[in-house]
Amino acid sequence: MPVVLHLDHGTSFLQNVQCLHAGFTSLMYDGSAEPLDKNIEISAKICEIAHAVGLPVEAELGKIPKIEDYVSAEEADDLRSRPESEQVEILREKAGPSVEELMADPNQAQRFVQGTGIDSLAAAVGSIHGMWADSWPLRRDRIEELRKATNLPLVCHGSSGVIRTRADAQEKGIELMPNECTLEEAVQIGICKVNVATAVSMAFLKGAWDAWQERLTEKDLRKILLPGLQSAKELVRGYMRLFGCSGRVAGASAVAASEVKHAE
Ligand SMILES: [Zn+2]
Repeated sequence: MPVVLHLDHGTSFLQNVQCLHAGFTSLMYDGSAEPLDKNIEISAKICEIAHAVGLPVEAELGKIPKIEDYVSAEEADDLRSRPESEQVEILREKAGPSVEELMADPNQAQRFVQGTGIDSLAAAVGSIHGMWADSWPLRRDRIEELRKATNLPLVCHGSSGVIRTRADAQEKGIELMPNECTLEEAVQIGICKVNVATAVSMAFLKGAWDAWQERLTEKDLRKILLPGLQSAKELVRGYMRLFGCSGRVAGASAVAASEVKHAE
C-alpha cells in the first residue's frame, strides 16, 4: 500500500509551507470559512509550491459541519441511548436543512478547481464530522453532480458517521431517500478518499477499554493499548475491503480504487 503523511484541514498558507518543509507528502488547505475568492487564491498558492516538488493538494469547498454544531454533549448522550433509526430521524430534523445548505455547489466547484489546480476536492456532500455511529446517509445526487463538474477525485470527510451498506441500513431500520446513498455506493460514483478518523479512534478506545475492564489490576500500559491497536486494525481492514482497496477489487469499485492518489 502506498502511504502518505497528509496534513488534514490545514488552516493557512503558512502552515502548509511549514508542513511541506517538515516532510509531509500530501497537503490540504481548508478555506471553507473564507469567501470563495479568498479560498481560491490561497488554495492556488499552495498548489503552486506543492506541485513544484510533486506533492498533491486537497482543498475544501462547501462546509462539512461537525456534530457539535447541532447537538450539545447532553443531547448527544440522550441521542446515543436511542436506536440508530431514531437518531437519524431526530438528526434529519435538527441538522438536515443546515447540512444541505452547506453542501458544495457544483457550479462553484468547477470555478474552484479551474482556479486552483487542486488534485482532489473535499466537497461537502451531506456528511457530518465526528459522529459516533455509522448511520447517516450521503447525497448521491450531489456527489454525481460534483464529479461531473470537476472530473476530480472527491474526498469524503466525516465518513465515520456514514451508513456503510444497504444491508446495514436495513438491519438498523434506517430508510434512505431516493437521492441518498451509502458509503459503499459513494466510492463507486466518485469518492476516492474516505476520512474515518473518528471511527478508528473509537475502535481503539473500545478495544483498550474492554481489555482494561477484563483486568483492572493490569499495570502494563502495553497490555491495554495493544488490544486497542488490534481493534482499530480490524476496523480499518473492514473499511479497506468495503472501499475496494484491499486487492479484492471488483466491478465499479475498481474505477474508484484506481483513482486513489493518497490515503490517510
Ligand atoms: Zn475533515
